[in-house]
Amino acid sequence: MRVYISADMEGITGLVDAEDVQPSGRDYELGRLMMTEDVNAAISGALSGGATDVLVNDAHGPMRNLFPGELHPRARLIKGRPKPMSMLEGLEADFGIVLCVGFHARAGAPGVMSHSFMGHEIEDMWLDGRPVGEIGLLHAAAAAIGVPVGLLTGDDAACAEMTEWDSGVTTVAVKTARDRFAAELRPPAESRAAIQAAAHSAVAGLLASPREPDLAQKPKALAVRWQSAAVATHLLGIPGVTRTDSRTVEVTARMPDLYRLLGIFLRVATTLTNQAPYC
Ligand SMILES: [Zn+2]
Repeated sequence: MRVYISADMEGITGLVDAEDVQPSGRDYELGRLMMTEDVNAAISGALSGGATDVLVNDAHGPMRNLFPGELHPRARLIKGRPKPMSMLEGLEADFGIVLCVGFHARAGAPGVMSHSFMGHEIEDMWLDGRPVGEIGLLHAAAAAIGVPVGLLTGDDAACAEMTEWDSGVTTVAVKTARDRFAAELRPPAESRAAIQAAAHSAVAGLLASPREPDLAQKPKALAVRWQSAAVATHLLGIPGVTRTDSRTVEVTARMPDLYRLLGIFLRVATTLTNQAPYC
């Protein structure tokens, strides 16, 4: 089974603050190492569970966080940005499972470093009327490509958010949120052992009882409420995009095209607001 790993940073073991996850941060280099260790734990578990190959997509901020020389030697790495499919770049139907490592809760949720794609610019998002963030959108896009999400690691809020979308996904909470920039940490060795064991059982479990892909997906409505009305105004230039109030746009399309379109929304918003995507 081919295994795909989408690696974010806010939900990595030991990290709680922008200082840990942004390139200008005082502890960013340590954060990169912690991220590489969590991803390596997932790769080791996937391989022992039956993975034939592992593709890792560095999916946070500059998307140049993981240390290639320190990454498990059996894994290949997608590094850098922008990428048309962003956090799912490189995922094709011939993969058997997606493992989400280091994910975080959506904007407004009481989770560690909670946000949706941008630091502040996206205030809320809804998928078919239901509040959604990076976790729900990635899950829906991967399902439309034909690959189930089998594991998510992050804080307890990210794990709960994943479970709300799909109770069949194994989750590993590596920290418990105390506030947006504070958490009670699981000891790193224990956390990585839990990630490795969960990745093993997610891959082995899916090999033992495969899930049929649900490719008959209906178009979905995505609404995004921006902080800046200017972003909504400019997005109206994209055919099919409508505005429901001065700052909220809506568009209906099939996944995964909708996910790719959201990437264009984000690049427009970044250009207009000078606020870098954070993912
Ligand atoms: Zn991120």
